Amino acid sequence: MDIQSLAQEIIKIKKHADELGLFTHDRDLLECKFCGLMEDVTFEGNLITFIKREDIEYNKMKNSSKRFIETNDPNIFICPQCGNNTELPEVDFE
Ligand SMILES: [Zn+2]
Repeated sequence: MDIQSLAQEIIKIKKHADELGLFTHDRDLLECKFCGLMEDVTFEGNLITFIKREDIEYNKMKNSSKRFIETNDPNIFICPQCGNNTELPEVDFE
């Protein structure tokens, strides 16, 4: 498969995922530096958030069901846990 058709295939898959309401990796996952609330994507592709803790095994982390809130700035989100601004990690688009 050449790059062109591969790219078209990815666009098709992403569009389908959008329709299903799944997280499509259009942006990086957020992590609040203040309270440790972070996003992750489950095996099924659903976006979840939880508080990172050293004393709990990763797979026992509980989904808080909170969502980072979008602002007018596409790179800034508001943490639903502590209300601080969380900046989107820089992504290299290649
Ligand atoms: Zn926070």
